[in-house]
Amino acid sequence: MTIKGIQSLLSESYPYPELVADQLCNLVARPCTMVPFTQQAFPNQMDEFNTEYAPARLLDRDEPAPEANIRLIKKAPAVESYFAKRLWTKVLNPALEGFSTKLVAVPYRDTVFESAIYADYNLDWKIEAYLTRDGDTAPEFDRIRTTKKQYLDSLRDGKYPTEASANHKLTEIRVKSELFGYPSCCTQQFLNERETRFKALLDIGPERIRELQNEYDDPNQLWSTFRDELRTHGLTLEELNPESRIVQQLEYINLGQYFEEWSYEELSEFYQQKATQSLPEFFYGFFTADYYPHNPRCEESVDIGRRIESALQDSIPELVSIYRMSLMRNVFSYMGFDDLQLHRRLLSDSIADPP
Ligand SMILES: [Zn+2]
Repeated sequence: MTIKGIQSLLSESYPYPELVADQLCNLVARPCTMVPFTQQAFPNQMDEFNTEYAPARLLDRDEPAPEANIRLIKKAPAVESYFAKRLWTKVLNPALEGFSTKLVAVPYRDTVFESAIYADYNLDWKIEAYLTRDGDTAPEFDRIRTTKKQYLDSLRDGKYPTEASANHKLTEIRVKSELFGYPSCCTQQFLNERETRFKALLDIGPERIRELQNEYDDPNQLWSTFRDELRTHGLTLEELNPESRIVQQLEYINLGQYFEEWSYEELSEFYQQKATQSLPEFFYGFFTADYYPHNPRCEESVDIGRRIESALQDSIPELVSIYRMSLMRNVFSYMGFDDLQLHRRLLSDSIADPP
């Protein structure tokens, strides 16, 4: 155990308890974890960034996409130093020791997800903070940054997906999965799913998506037409989403009906009570957010989740219960129970009054 000072973050007033429960806990048994700076997770930080960096954003809607890409790429080193500083002053605490951080910030256009139909290939920033244990060298960061830039460079007209952009994205996923220590069986499954998704979206093509957008103003209608469109390519939405696959694999647990009608007090009691003991085995396969085991019972994934728990038990036992709450959140989030603010409150309450 080499991470020190986590206890200093165990206070009710610390605004990001899920980062402790997930990325910092994971770091006791995994070589590298990543914290994405998103609007949802860090609203204050992102608002400040957007205000300060307004000129760096795409304000001029008439600016051609390739030029906008180049303009933002030039700003990337400044954005990285901006967040590198904020990470230690606003998010983490200087009392923490035993790991290093690295920022990778690159402009990004979302072409690979169905969100392209809503987001319209808009330009935005993708900002990622990587946490590695001291002593573990990770030269992959430059590779990740380069691959992300190659992705942007390979878009048609600076905007639309191509076979090359899909390949760069797959390379990025592969490099990251190795860096994060994910089991190869799960990485392969995820890569296959992503590849299928890229192929389908390339087949449909941005022109067809544009046609659908012009035809339907109502997002629900647009969505259901997109579904039909996929079907003509022999695919269902479920086949494009690892989340849907996981829901199917966990089907018999029938969690969907839970929680919706529960009061906060009932929910809090349930989480606290479950967190006092070992969880059912498959929960350990969901050791970090946005990770998709190839199967909820993947032995290698479960093993990683268990190793984190036992390393915590040996070194910082007061973190075990919030780690378990994080496992619960990760599983339930695939079941549609994914309210970050609620999860923060559950964790803060548990930190204030440990089970
Ligand atoms: Zn696996």
